[in-house]
Amino acid sequence: MNLVLLGPPGGGKGTQAKRLQDKYGLVQLSTGDMLRAAVASGSEVGKRAKAVMDAGQLVSDEIVIAIIDERLEQPDTKPGVIFDGFPRTVAQAEALDAMMERKGRRLDVAIEVRVPDALLVERITGRYTCAKCGSGYHDSFQKPKVAGVCDKCGGSEFVRRADDNAETVTKRLGAYHAQTAPLLPYYDGKGKLHLVDGTQEIGKVTVDLEGILDALR
Ligand code: AMP
Repeated sequence: MNLVLLGPPGGGKGTQAKRLQDKYGLVQLSTGDMLRAAVASGSEVGKRAKAVMDAGQLVSDEIVIAIIDERLEQPDTKPGVIFDGFPRTVAQAEALDAMMERKGRRLDVAIEVRVPDALLVERITGRYTCAKCGSGYHDSFQKPKVAGVCDKCGGSEFVRRADDNAETVTKRLGAYHAQTAPLLPYYDGKGKLHLVDGTQEIGKVTVDLEGILDALR
């Protein structure tokens, strides 16, 4: 099974993808994570992407399509993937369709995790992750059980994303509405679009997503 999680930045796609991957034996493919890794490694792609990401704009279709194409060649993706943050433009969605066909695979479903803009700035500016295992937390909504200690791995170092500041968030939301929202009618037209209410509590969103995936299996 291969699925796309759609929705605005801070809407919970990454959190939900992590929860779904173990249960369904799928691999989360986050282009944002891959690009941040490229920036951290100082690679050519990373150098090209950094300024664009810091400005809250979208990296070129050409770069992200190439990253995904290469990643899908790795055998761990064969049982199925959760695309998280990709595609972000109609051109990327079309390239993904062509790529999947070429590789003899199929995109089964696209699910919109819907959250209104008004809730997103607080969600994004308050979030942080464990530096060791990547578990996600939030200043108000998802604190570790013991302050300063990761619930999952016991790590005590946490990191915040460079682009999770109020100013950049507004630009990222603008990019979402202008460039990514047109994917909703794109997948709806193919009969592949489902919707979940992303304003619900994290566990309830997961239950709704599982309901959609279980019905497809
Ligand atoms: P994310 O972690 O998904 O919020 O992505 C962080 C940033 O990486 C975005 O604001 C973009 O600059 C860039 N990015 C991630 N995925 C894509 C994509 N599919 N297309 C273009 N830019 C992307």
